[in-house]
Amino acid sequence: MDFRFTPEEEAFRQELRSWLRENVPPNWEGVFLEEEVEEWKQGLAFVRKLAEKGWVAPAWPKEYGGMEASPALQLAYNEEMGYQRAPIGSIVQSVGYIGPAILFFGTEEQKRQHLPPVTAGETVWCQGYSEPEAGSDLASLKTRAVKDGDDYVINGDKTWTSNAHRSDWCILLARTDPAAPKHKGISFFLVDMKSPGITVQPVMNMANVHSFNQVFFEDVRVPKSALLGQENQGWYIAAMTLDFERSSLVAMAVSMAKRALDDLVGYCRETRVKGKSLLASPLVRHKLAEMAIEIEVGKYMVYRVVSLQARMEPGSIEAAVCKLYNTELDVRVANTGLEILGLYGQLHKDSKWTQLMGRFQKSYMYAIAMVVGGGSSEIQRNIIAMRGLGLPRG
Ligand SMILES: Cc1cc2nc3c(=O)[nH]c(=O)nc-3n(C[C@H](O)[C@H](O)[C@H](O)COP(=O)(O)OP(=O)(O)OC[C@H]3O[C@@H](n4cnc5c(N)ncnc54)[C@H](O)[C@@H]3O)c2cc1C
Repeated sequence: MDFRFTPEEEAFRQELRSWLRENVPPNWEGVFLEEEVEEWKQGLAFVRKLAEKGWVAPAWPKEYGGMEASPALQLAYNEEMGYQRAPIGSIVQSVGYIGPAILFFGTEEQKRQHLPPVTAGETVWCQGYSEPEAGSDLASLKTRAVKDGDDYVINGDKTWTSNAHRSDWCILLARTDPAAPKHKGISFFLVDMKSPGITVQPVMNMANVHSFNQVFFEDVRVPKSALLGQENQGWYIAAMTLDFERSSLVAMAVSMAKRALDDLVGYCRETRVKGKSLLASPLVRHKLAEMAIEIEVGKYMVYRVVSLQARMEPGSIEAAVCKLYNTELDVRVANTGLEILGLYGQLHKDSKWTQLMGRFQKSYMYAIAMVVGGGSSEIQRNIIAMRGLGLPRG
């Protein structure tokens, strides 16, 4: 296997890298998504600049604002965006898996309506899958969509909906045939968040930041044209978007981990304890080396998924392996940072004693969320065991 990028891909990487160095807001402290109000505004402004370059969704067709980039070019893009900590939380869902679902299953009208506003940095989407009684077992969702003339009428509630309070549109899974086996009676809708009958209530996360929401749908009327794909085909579309979500989530996570490690190595090089550099401590060196090796392993797992995508081969098992390993790796990197930084590592970015802009404190709180979001580690292990290894259902 040849891991080298082509000269064109390398040239694009260099151009993007220089641009990011100039355009990621100075002193940007983001580590995961931009969740605080000020961060979010900076992120939106950044995405508009990215849109001016035509760089929001490289892999999409040119007619919808993409670059028709190869999977390898998209990989180089993801690596740079992750390493430079580009503030693109407002588009990770729409570019990573919502847009691809519309590209695969949408009508031409749906593609023209929804994709160009994403590549112009004008619309934000959220994902209405999970419900209070349906998370890992998503197919038991209860939200109903009932046909009424040319419309569907939606009732139910969704939870953990990231960014619903800032979104223009929502992808929504709702039951359209309650008599069918549970996987077969679900449909996939594209819902305007301004529709009458939608109420968004904040749910604070463990960092005490408003990122999640509970979203209530009360007699929300959507036109038939809001249906993506066929009625009752929603489960299959959702399963595909989850594969995309898993691979798009981790592609940047590995290079973000690499950046965190590089920052940590820099900190250890400059910090002296009892007259000696922290890098002189065998314990610290071993920890850093262990992380460097694990990050390298994670990187090649991502390359494997990308090479399968490039050959149009199925890769849902590999995407599950990659999601499981790399999101847990982010937790190990955050833990390593906190161990090395000691008590300084626990300080919030606003403390005058904080180190490395409080990033490790923040990533310690957020990394664990990534292990759960997009399907928890246990669910990835079940997928690998049953579909990958052919083991019986536990
Ligand atoms: C940061 C973050 C962002 C999110 N954003 C969104 C969003 O935008 N939209 C959305 O719809 N959802 C979102 N979610 C919800 C996420 O998809 C669910 O949290 C996840 O699917 C798990 O569901 P649950 O929380 O109901 O936990 P449960 O399904 O109740 O699981 C609880 C525990 O039991 C384990 N478990 C459950 N079933 C099994 C099994 N069969 N075998 C072994 N172990 C099992 C799980 O691994 C977990 O540890 C987000 C979650 C997080 C953390």
